Amino acid sequence: MYSEEDTQVARHIELNDGARMPLLGLGTWKASQLPQTSIQGAVEAAIAAGFRHIDTAYCYNNEVDIGKALRSKMQQSIIRREDMFIVSKLWDTHHAPEDIPVCLNKSLKDLQLDYLDLYLVHFPVGLKKMGDELYPRKDGVLLTSDVDYVDVWRVELHPYMVQADMIEFCKSKNIALTAYSPFGSPGRPADMLNADADPHKILEDPVVADIGRKHKRSPAQVLLRYHVQQGIVVIPKSEKPHHILENTKIFDFSLTDEDMTALRGLDRGWQAGIIDEIKSHPYYPFV
Ligand code: NDP
Repeated sequence: MYSEEDTQVARHIELNDGARMPLLGLGTWKASQLPQTSIQGAVEAAIAAGFRHIDTAYCYNNEVDIGKALRSKMQQSIIRREDMFIVSKLWDTHHAPEDIPVCLNKSLKDLQLDYLDLYLVHFPVGLKKMGDELYPRKDGVLLTSDVDYVDVWRVELHPYMVQADMIEFCKSKNIALTAYSPFGSPGRPADMLNADADPHKILEDPVVADIGRKHKRSPAQVLLRYHVQQGIVVIPKSEKPHHILENTKIFDFSLTDEDMTALRGLDRGWQAGIIDEIKSHPYYPFV
């Protein structure tokens, strides 16, 4: 599945339908909450820095601004639609078959697009439909639904959550894997953050820092390289232009086998993202 395009690592993976998915994408969850910038600016900065893959979702409430950024760059002839790989996601309140086009069409309209490159089931646990509520609650309790789903193939991956078996399984079945929260999701809201003893400080881990010093790279670049070197798509979120640019500079150096082993050695089965309040639901995906 993985085709080499340069001496270091391919910049795309080819999906089974022939589509080419860039290994590096821009995550946009929680973006646009800083006053000095905007998600539109972040996406424009990302396109200028070379990102051609943008990850968004109905529930991120940012598709209108992302649409403006895409439209503006297309009008300036900096990109064509076919240069971009745009991913959005079906929200949990819209799992019922009749609600799927409603959610999809809203995303398309907001993004000013007539197709997406990939449409994912955001999270396997459905939520009750209650008007436009993203997180429907009654007496403070999140209301789930039991609408079935087929599968969700996207996972949190980083050296604290190595998932060696998952990676091996996907490779054996020719399934493309995307790693979300590659930095352990600093900035995640407290009620969606695993507060377990282990701090969410992968970016400050001394092993990562040592490897970075050796290659004259930042911890973020080491963590992103760790994924793309394994042929895993990675979607770091940033809305700071200097971080966005830094995050693109991962295709011109290689981690050694020793580095990869040291990074995998940090595994502690720790993941940033959990939603404790629905963990009793039969489709809850995390242990
Ligand atoms: P990440 O692990 O990508 O961490 C994002 C944080 O890292 C931000 O606070 C960002 O700050 C900071 N950061 C980015 N680049 C650098 C850098 N070079 N140096 C230092 N800090 C940096 O967290 P996310 O949880 O946001 O995951 C990434 C994306 O994955 C999401 O935005 C979303 O698109 C997707 N996702 C998908 C899920 C799903 O499908 N179910 C679930 C969770 C996430 P700053 O903005 O200031 O640069």
